[in-house]
Amino acid sequence: MTFATLGLIEPLLRALETLGYQTPTPVQAQAIPAVLAGRDLMAAAQTGTGKTAGFAVPLLQLLTMEGPKVTANSVRALILCPTRELAEQVHASVAEYAQHLPLTTYAVYGGVSINPQMMKLRKGVDVLVATPGRLIDLFRQNALKLNQLQTLVLDEADRMLDLGFSEELANIYRMLPKKRQTLLFSATFSDEIRLLAGQMLIDPLIVEVSPRNVAANTVKQWVVPVDKKRKAELFVHLMRKGRWKQVLVFAKTRNGVDALVEKLQGLGINADGIHGDKPQATRQRALDRFKSSDVQILVATDVAARGLDIEDLPLVVNFDLPIVAEDYIHRIGRTGRAGNTGEAISLVCADEVNMLSAIEMLTRQTLTRHMEQDFEPEHRVPDTDSSGQVVKKPKKPKKPKTSGGGKRNLGKWVESGEVSVAEPSLKPVRKVPVFNTGPRKKK
Ligand code: AMP
Repeated sequence: MTFATLGLIEPLLRALETLGYQTPTPVQAQAIPAVLAGRDLMAAAQTGTGKTAGFAVPLLQLLTMEGPKVTANSVRALILCPTRELAEQVHASVAEYAQHLPLTTYAVYGGVSINPQMMKLRKGVDVLVATPGRLIDLFRQNALKLNQLQTLVLDEADRMLDLGFSEELANIYRMLPKKRQTLLFSATFSDEIRLLAGQMLIDPLIVEVSPRNVAANTVKQWVVPVDKKRKAELFVHLMRKGRWKQVLVFAKTRNGVDALVEKLQGLGINADGIHGDKPQATRQRALDRFKSSDVQILVATDVAARGLDIEDLPLVVNFDLPIVAEDYIHRIGRTGRAGNTGEAISLVCADEVNMLSAIEMLTRQTLTRHMEQDFEPEHRVPDTDSSGQVVKKPKKPKKPKTSGGGKRNLGKWVESGEVSVAEPSLKPVRKVPVFNTGPRKKK
């Protein structure tokens, strides 16, 4: 199958060729014809699967081929994203796909001045990428009208609910014309997502990419058990031993990010951190420096790292496991992208055993453990498996090996199985939006 056989117009084919996209990914092969045919879509696909082109390319074609010219302060297509970084990244991709089309594109998000965004919207924009909060602000200040909207895309919808955007989504829903096309992308189809889809979509085509996470398929994953207080030391040890060059590290909290960055910098390691407390410009600068290899270690929280697309990122380290198991899949999706192989290492302490168990249940695999010599934990991490069982009874810790000829654990890779998402899985408590604006008409 080629992009041409999917019925795409020449300016789009040319743009995809320039980007080196030769064949459609599974999500693109399914989504592109459906979107071109005007259908609503509910797609289980995450970053790394090529989902952005899956919705953006056909959307751009529809905007080019049909509909009136955009009027002042209006938008014809709206792509909602959970974070500023993802909004920037999606916009960059949309702009690349649209490079030979007579369409305007723009991204708006919080954390930066609203005035330039209001100015830019004056003439109207064909495709607007937005985070929910800033979109509502612009709408309330009459800088934005949605009556010309043809297509709405909810990108990473599960993440938007996780981040507490349910109320904003309900508000935006009330602002939208009833007659429109809606495309919903989510890493998982939780009950909350199904409810949201039930309210927002009409007779959607359900697209599930199998394997669900193309990226994770090519990611070698393993766990190193360690005591909590020795995690930083272990990280530095593994980094030096493995001669890590470019690593994205995930920490659970903003303080955790700062503490690790400080520790690494104190050791003369070229590290920087990104989290929600830092201004957007600082985050972007850290990200750009990491991308250009000026920074070797980038430590991030889940929210800040959302949507990062760094080509050929070889390694992701989970300094802490995520509280929400789905985030594990998002995290490891930063590596092994676009057909490359990647590695994901999790430093796990005894406190995190329930999170480990939830991740194994969600991904339907038991993650391989490698004990690192001299870092065997005093507080043993109980055994877990993909059934969600945690063997509570603690065993005595093994005596640390003292002789040099010990087995090298990290030299040998164990390829993990494919990652697929079990449903229903973990159920984090989320507020579910309630939409009372009555049924909407199909476009
Ligand atoms: P996404 O899942 O949309 O974040 O895309 C993940 C990465 O795959 C991005 O770097 C895209 O540029 C790239 N990509 C998307 N579709 C294709 C394709 N058909 N062929 C090659 N690379 C692609």
